[in-house]
Amino acid sequence: MTGFSESEERLALRAAVADLGKRYGGQWFLKKARAGEKSTELWDEAAKLGYLGVNVPEEYGGGGGDIGDLAAVGEELSAQGCGLLLMVVSPAICATIISRFGTDQQKQEWLPRFADGTLRMAFAITEPDAGSNSHKLTTTARRDGDDWVLSGRKVYISGVDEAAAVMVVGRTEDARTGKLKPALFIVPTDAPGFEYQPIEMDIVSPDKQFMLFLDDVRLPADALVGAEDAALLQLFAGLNPERIMAASFAIGMGRYALEKGVEYAKTRQVWSTPIGAHQAVAHPLAEAKIQLELAKVMTQKAAALYDAGDDMAAGEAANMAKYAAAEACIKAVDAAIQVHGGNGLTAEYGLGALVAAARVNRIAPVSREMILNFVAQNTLGLPKSY
Ligand SMILES: Cc1cc2nc3c(=O)[nH]c(=O)nc-3n(C[C@H](O)[C@H](O)[C@H](O)COP(=O)(O)OP(=O)(O)OC[C@H]3O[C@@H](n4cnc5c(N)ncnc54)[C@H](O)[C@@H]3O)c2cc1C
Repeated sequence: MTGFSESEERLALRAAVADLGKRYGGQWFLKKARAGEKSTELWDEAAKLGYLGVNVPEEYGGGGGDIGDLAAVGEELSAQGCGLLLMVVSPAICATIISRFGTDQQKQEWLPRFADGTLRMAFAITEPDAGSNSHKLTTTARRDGDDWVLSGRKVYISGVDEAAAVMVVGRTEDARTGKLKPALFIVPTDAPGFEYQPIEMDIVSPDKQFMLFLDDVRLPADALVGAEDAALLQLFAGLNPERIMAASFAIGMGRYALEKGVEYAKTRQVWSTPIGAHQAVAHPLAEAKIQLELAKVMTQKAAALYDAGDDMAAGEAANMAKYAAAEACIKAVDAAIQVHGGNGLTAEYGLGALVAAARVNRIAPVSREMILNFVAQNTLGLPKSY
């Protein structure tokens, strides 16, 4: 970013990704989702063009760009109706954590595959009994010689069926204090003792969510990512990019719905003018546009802070951006459906299918309420109720 506009390179990247997204588009995406198929062709083509590895360091074959570049890719694909959910976890969280905190060996092993997009790595933090309260995580790793033995349950984990590995947030026992502290492990999806089951969701998407069962999964010493002592720092370093990507994903989805709504409002006519001339139709679209733009500016700020190395300030901005983007997306989808009247809920127009997908943005990866808690406590200094 220079001033309030993105660099020429970023804008060119957006245009190129939008061209790719247009060749696939929302109808293609919905058809895949409804047939129970994956969006693999788009992932592979985007990967081949280097778009999924834009943030991976050049020395590992990536684009050497930053999280703002990756967010631009995510937003533009989403704005064409074919967002790739796994971008939020694989390149944004997992590649970031490994490139910032992985050992040389881990970087050599994983980063080239993030760079060329041949690898998808899922990310598992949520547990059935912990939910938003990550202090209650019970997935635990114990030492056995040089190995780790990991056991626990995870829920709602996206894309495990397509992933070669999952980055699992667990705990290890502190040798000095006996207390459990967070630690990140890379677990291959074919490891003995690792099983997963799909969760039936009412979301129309090629990307699915899974329950994970880890029963005494034996892992080599180097499955632990980075330092055992720095896990919290590492986790936050990965969760800020996740929020920035989730915001971009939501903004793209909102842009997609808004564009459909505007197009329809310009052409549909049931009285003497196109329906878009009625302010009751036009204003919700204008409001959605304003909210999406506001969310985008905050997302760009969060990315700029993150890329400048200010993790604390980036955390606040990324939470605010994710909140704003989710609300803007839900509003845009709702406005677009309303403008379409009955057509808003036909399979042909595909907007009804966006309702649950848009709503996800208010729940995951961090809920609206937990963001409000964060801002109330950290930004405003209010006391905590929980
Ligand atoms: C489509 C989808 C994909 C997902 N993908 C992944 C993934 O890839 N990896 C992963 O690890 N997780 C994933 N998740 C999980 C997601 O991050 C969680 O659903 C989310 O963090 C909320 O946790 P929970 O569902 O357990 O809700 P709960 O924690 O049970 O919360 C329920 C409700 O109570 C509210 N609440 C809880 N505590 C408080 C409080 N202190 N103050 C006010 N309100 C509160 C919450 O905001 C929420 O509205 C995914 C979820 C979905 C829906």
